[in-house]
Formats: sequence, C-alpha cells, structure tokens
Amino acid sequence: MTEYIQAAVNVPQISGVFDYHLPPELEGKLQPGCLVSVPFGKQLVQGVVLCFVEEPQVMETKPVEALLDPFPALTPIQLQLAAALAEKYLAPLSSCIDLMLPPGLSQHSDTLYSVNPGADDPSITPFQQRILAKLNERGQLRGRQLDAAFPRIEWRQPAAGLVKKGILNSAPVLPPPVVRPKIVRVAQLIQPFEHAGRVLADAGRMSAAVRERRSKALAFLDREAVPVNVAWVYASSGTNLADLEKLAELGLVQLSESEIWRDPLRDLQPIPFEPPILTRAQEEALEKIDRGLESSSRGETPKPALLHGVTGSGKTEIYLKAIEHALARGKQAIVLVPEIALTPQTVRRLLSRFPGRVGLVHSKLSPGERYDTWRRARAGLIQVILGPRSALFTPLPDLGLIVVDECHEDSYYQDDTLPFYHAVDAALTYARMTRSVIILGSATPPIEMVYQANQEGWERLELPNRIIAHRAVILGQLAALNKTPLPVSVDQDAAFMQLPPVEVADMREELKSGNRSVLSRTLKKELAAVLERGEQAILFLNRRGSSTYVFCRECGKTLLCPRCDRPLTWHEDQLMLICHTCNYSRKMPSTCPKCGSNQIRQYGTGTQAVEKLVQEIFPSARTLRWDWETTRQKGAHEMILSHFANHRADILIGTQMLAKGLDLPLVTLVGIILADVGLNFPDFRAGERTFQLLTQVAGRAGRSPLGGKVVLQTFQPDHYAIQSAALHDFNGFYHQEINHRSQLGFPPFSRLVRVEFREMDAGKAESYARIFAGKARCWIEEGGYKATELIGPVPCFFAKEAGFYRWQVILKGPDPVGILRGKPLGDARVNIDPPTLL
Ligand code: ADP
Ligand code: ZN
Ligand code: ZN
Repeated sequence: MTEYIQAAVNVPQISGVFDYHLPPELEGKLQPGCLVSVPFGKQLVQGVVLCFVEEPQVMETKPVEALLDPFPALTPIQLQLAAALAEKYLAPLSSCIDLMLPPGLSQHSDTLYSVNPGADDPSITPFQQRILAKLNERGQLRGRQLDAAFPRIEWRQPAAGLVKKGILNSAPVLPPPVVRPKIVRVAQLIQPFEHAGRVLADAGRMSAAVRERRSKALAFLDREAVPVNVAWVYASSGTNLADLEKLAELGLVQLSESEIWRDPLRDLQPIPFEPPILTRAQEEALEKIDRGLESSSRGETPKPALLHGVTGSGKTEIYLKAIEHALARGKQAIVLVPEIALTPQTVRRLLSRFPGRVGLVHSKLSPGERYDTWRRARAGLIQVILGPRSALFTPLPDLGLIVVDECHEDSYYQDDTLPFYHAVDAALTYARMTRSVIILGSATPPIEMVYQANQEGWERLELPNRIIAHRAVILGQLAALNKTPLPVSVDQDAAFMQLPPVEVADMREELKSGNRSVLSRTLKKELAAVLERGEQAILFLNRRGSSTYVFCRECGKTLLCPRCDRPLTWHEDQLMLICHTCNYSRKMPSTCPKCGSNQIRQYGTGTQAVEKLVQEIFPSARTLRWDWETTRQKGAHEMILSHFANHRADILIGTQMLAKGLDLPLVTLVGIILADVGLNFPDFRAGERTFQLLTQVAGRAGRSPLGGKVVLQTFQPDHYAIQSAALHDFNGFYHQEINHRSQLGFPPFSRLVRVEFREMDAGKAESYARIFAGKARCWIEEGGYKATELIGPVPCFFAKEAGFYRWQVILKGPDPVGILRGKPLGDARVNIDPPTLL
C-alpha cells in the first residue's frame, strides 16, 4: 500500500501544507520532522514531514523527491510547538516550522553516492561508465563533488539510472560545515603622530568636521601599541571605514585583517571564583526551582517561576545553579537573553561555569557556525543553549529548563518577519509541553505577567537585596582604587548595597531660572564632582528620542514631517530640520504652529549634541559615545565597554543600556537626560515603558563600592511612572498601573489584536482598513461577541514607515483571536498581543 505524508512547504501566501506519496525506495525511511525535498509547481522545494495520512486530501499526489537527512530535523515536541504557535498567532504553519530550521539548511543537504560492490550491468551508457570510473577511483562522492568533477554536464539523471539498477547506492547526508576563521579588520598608525598630523593638514579639502574626526582617530591610534579593531577606532573618534581608508591612502594608517579574535573582555574581569555561597534569599529561590525540577521528573508540569530582583540582586547566579541542577539530572537548558552583544558578562559566566557545554546562537554568527551549533545540539553534544529569541527553537533531545532573562524586553516579540510571535509566550508554551521548569527573570516584570502569576499561582522568587559583588571583588577593587568604601552589609560571600538615591531635576524649573541647556544645574554639579574625584559617569538618552527633535515647551507639540508624520530632526551643521524617512527639510519655525508660543526649539538630545556640550563644559573630560552609529560593527559593543571599563574615558554618552552585570567600580553617577521621552505616546503601555526604562537605567548606577547617584531630568516630575521609578518602587507602580488598566479595560483585563494595513498608496491603506473594519464588525455581531470592542480604523501613530502608509484596526476583548480564526485576512499584518500599538 502506498504511504502518504503531509508536509509543510515554505511557500508564501498559502497555508503551505500539502500531501505527497512516498516512492517505494523511501517507504519506511521517513519520520515526522524529517526534511525532504518535494515538487511544488515546477520547482523542487524543501519541506518538513508533519505526519502520515491514511488518505490524501487531493486525488493525485506527487511523490516525495528525496529524503534530505534521515535524522529528523524537528523533534516531535517542536512540531507540536510550531502547530501551537501557528494556531495562536494565526500564522502560516510553515513559517513557524521555519523558525526551527537553521538558515541555509537545505544548502547543506546533499546526496552521497557510492558503488555497490558486485553489481554489474553491461547495458550502461558511456557517460554512466565515466561516473562509475570516477567513483571507483575516488571512493564515495557527494553530489557537490560530482558537480565539480563533471562541470556543466547533467550527471544526476544518469546517476539516478544507476541507482535504480542497483549499481550505485545513494544516501542523504548533511556534512559538517566548513568553519572559517573569524576575520577582524584592524588598524594601526604607521607614521609618527606629529608627521601624520602634518600630512592630514596638507591633505587638501575636507570639511572641518571630517578633519576633526580623522585627527581624533590618529590621536587614538597613537595611544595604541598594537593593531586595534576598527570598531574601537569608530567608537572613540566617530570615524567610519571611508575615513580610515582615506588615512590609509595617505600612508598614515595600515588597515589589515587579523585572523585572531581578541576577546576584549578577556583580561578585564577574570572569573576566578568558585560559584559563590548563595545568600539566604537565593537559597530560597533555588529550593523552589529544585522542587520544580523534582516534580517534572515525576511527570508533573511545574508552575512557571517569576524571578523578580533588581539588577545585581543575584538572578544570574540562580540561573547558573538551576542549569547545573538540570544538567545533573541529565537534562538540557535554554537561556534566552534580549541581545547577546549587550550581555557579555552573562555569556562569559555561562561559558566559564559550563566549559565546552554551551552553544551560542545569535544573528551575527555565520550560517555555517549556526548550523554547526544546531547540529551539535540536536545530537546532544551541547547541553546549554544561549541566545536571543530564536535560540528557543534549537532542537534539544531532553529539555529540562528554560531561562528567560530580562523577560520584559520588547525584543522578545518578533514583528519584522512572519510569524509575528512573542518568544516569552512561546517559551511558556514550550515549557509546558516539555514539562520544563521555566524561570522568567526581571527587575521590572511586565504588569500583565505579574497579574497572571498572581492569578495562576506561579512560583514567586524575590531577591530584594542588591549585591554589589563578591566580597573578594569589592576588596580587590577598593585596594586597586585606593579609596574608602561606603559601609556595606554582608551575607556569606555577598556584599549588599542600597539602591542609589535618585534626584529628580525638574527641567521646567531650569527653564524658569534661565538655564536652557540640556544639562540641569544638578547634573552639571554632579558631573563636575565625579570628574574631580577621578570617577566615571554615564549619561543616558532614551533611544526613542535620541535624535535632536524639536518641540514646544509650552504645549509639548513635536514638529513632525508633513509627509511622514515622523519627528523632524535638527541638523546643526545645515541649520535645517530634516525628515530621516523622506528627506523633507525646512527651516526652524519661530513660533509653535499649535499654540503660537515662541518657546519652540530643538531639544538637544542627540548623543553628538550632548557630547559636544559636555566637552564645552568639561574640556578635559574624555567622552565616549555608545549609540547605533558607533556600534554597527561586529564586536563594537564589547570594545566600547572594555574601553570604558579600563577607564580610558570618563563619561559614556549613550542610547544603549549598559550591559548588566559588568562591574564598573568607578561609575558613581548616571544621568538620565530626558526621562519623559515617550511618556506621552498614545499607547496604553507608555507609562510602563517609561517606568521600566528608568528603573533599568537607574539600576546601572551605584554598582560601585564607592556608592552612586542617579540624576533624572524630566518635564513631568509628578507623573506616577517617574515618581515610582525615582523611589525604586515596583509595587507602588504596579498597583497604580493595574488600576489604570482595569478602569480602561486594557490588558490584562482584555486581549488585543492589531490588524495593520501597509500600502504605498495612502488611499489604499485606508480603504483596506475600512473594508476590514466593516467585515470585522459583522463577525463580532454575528458571533455575538458583545464584550469585544473594535477601535478604528485609524492611521497608526507612526503613520508611515519606509514609504508605506499604515492604518490599523484594533480588536479588544476576551478572545479577539477567536473572532479572526479561519477568516480571510489577506495581506493584513496580524499582531496578537502586540507590545506596542504605535
Ligand atoms: P543579576 O543577574 O540580578 O544582575 P548577578 O547574578 O549578576 O545579578 O549578581 C550580581 C553580582 O553579585 C555579580 O558580580 C555576582 O557574581 C555577584 N553574586 C551573585 N550572587 C552572589 C553570592 N551569593 N555571593 C557573592 N556574590 C554574588
Ligand atoms: Zn518625511
Ligand atoms: Zn505650542
């Protein structure tokens, strides 16, 4: 009897699930999760076997062409997870399956040919004779090797003929990837500095800004004895590759590629310690996790554990212990972090605690490296996987623990490519399916998660105290700094410390008293004191407001591009306002178009502007910028951090959050330039976002035995999000916020679906949204979904993106997904429980 299978095939626009039959030679060789190639239309495409079916859906099925790997690419539970994601997020199943395959997997698959000894047939063609001769000469060969041996000759058909006759054997193979050495571009100054300066001065026309950054680069390279990663040069001078190439052309700098990857943090923070003795609070948390692991091994499903603790309260140490305990039970673990580049400390602690057992998965890896990690995990050769959201889908034979660090981060939500899904939610589902313990850690857990945890009786793990570090580290640091510490309390190995005091600077008062600068008098005074004491400071700018935009200080109106609705950015060099989306430009208006006040002007919140101002006020301070411009290069984050940690700069000015856990004993001041950026966005989560951000940033201060302080500048000092953040008061914030949500019926008291239409043509975006809204109203009515509210259609807050007009319809109610399931949604982008409605 013919066997039929159902396979998921990645073809856009259709459900992507089709039936095929197995040719006789493949019968009995396939399992669910196997990777196959199947005909689709006129082409051959890659597919994943979902299941066997008794009867195909269609009259005539096509045959499976080949089995690409006899070992299933997806585990049965991964297939289940893919199906659950597709169902919950109304996404094509094939797109969910795709999450679990490393990129380029199909390019790795190949067929291995060998000669069947003893078989003989006189009737083969001369070309088939040549194939045979080649194989006899070289032993077995892969398809790609045969391609090379018979260039531009169609050998596959003849070889298939030989396989049919039993003269050749063929088998699918996934050969190991070729791992290439990592290449890093490095730069070195090759002329005496004074000479280089003269050459640059005579080098012909260039703008003052270009000349300045190039000479900064020369000055920087002059201090370096060995070739340094260009990312480092970019970060400290604002140069780019074109600048360095110009300097190379002038014979001043040598650019080369170094094969050796210099780990910038290697010498910085050795991790010599045995795992520390846990504090009382850590012990209690770990006991609960152990109970979870225990119940899982009895076949029960453990409750998720919400680990709430400020930055530095010892959460990572819990993760490490939990992993150790899971591994001891023969299980594997997955650790999710928002972004690997921002968590080098976590990476290194993991690597050093579990040497040789950790696989890193992230987007900067080459496809070969990723594929290699995927293979080793699947084969059970590595036990711990660390990476951003996609790491969740690494195949592990016997998962026992999932850790989601910084579980409040938006980057866990994927909304750039299908499927649009939330990795924290996916992790919860996966944990349930695998009966794994899941630990969700954060200093600011999402409001909805805390609510759910309360409702469903999750394990609550609280680490109320902040550890500045291992006692030995503190003593070492203090000896090195030759300073007197603040009094700290101690529990076992851990030295505790108070959270840093937060001083709120009311920027309205600053204006009233005639200070128009972006630095309040308090912040200036504190900066001066820090520099005086030879310590370090961090100035933080909210990335959302990190470009210099213009707003009215009377009514708060932001000047927007008339074509894109995006904030216009002030360009000091051209004295113009420019739209970064469409290049529209205009002069600065003299009065506010809304209220007519003359208090409208640029707010210098760009990193460059802040850097310039700081340099004006403190000419001898060494500044370092940490923003998207200086961090585009691979490894740049680590470079900048290391530069700062080695005290080669006094003030770090950035839009990036400082990597957690990196001890910076000299940082005693964090300034938040403008705390209320984003607070007034029309999004029900605006308050929560602001609170989270401020809490996280404030948490980077005061990790020093020298103590620390936060200065938070704001135009809205009375807002509860700002006040709670200033008091480090999570519970206070939670209660206010949950009341607010309950009054307005927002999550967790309802669920949201955003259906978005993106079109080049504004009219189309609008009319599609209107048509959809009409249909959705009918569905709501017909289904009797009385508690569901339809909001819109309206243009999105960011009404245009990359040339596309955006309109949205929001469904808010107990089960908006249920209303849409099975309905024709066409090209609409459907976001279930989106983290933002902007
Ligand atoms: P979090 O993940 O909450 O930011 P960490 O686990 O990174 O906190 O801990 C903060 C610092 O305290 C780290 O330097 C860590 O090595 C140290 N630490 C954590 N737990 C202990 C402990 N029980 N004893 C001594 N030092 C500890
Ligand atoms: Zn524009
Ligand atoms: Zn105004």
